[in-house]
Amino acid sequence: MIERKCLNCGTWNKDEDYCVECKKPLSPKALDKEKEIQLRQEQKEAKPSKMEVYLNRARSSRYLLVRWGYYALYSLFVFVGLMGAVVAWMAAMANA
Ligand SMILES: [Zn+2]
Repeated sequence: MIERKCLNCGTWNKDEDYCVECKKPLSPKALDKEKEIQLRQEQKEAKPSKMEVYLNRARSSRYLLVRWGYYALYSLFVFVGLMGAVVAWMAAMANA
């Protein structure tokens, strides 16, 4: 039998996962569970970054030109990334 002192209210608990007085988690198992729930809550509440909001707005814009601009920029990013990969690959081949 393990006795655990509640960090929140100071009550000594027997082999409980949660404090009998204030219902705070006591055991490592319960603490892990609590942390996981908190993490999930934070992820749910995390707002998308300004860039994401801006991109999403551009993608679903009513204006064709804005949507075109989005896809043009997107293609450019993909193209630049591809070129970077090609250049890296060529450099690797040249050294081989
Ligand atoms: Zn307590």
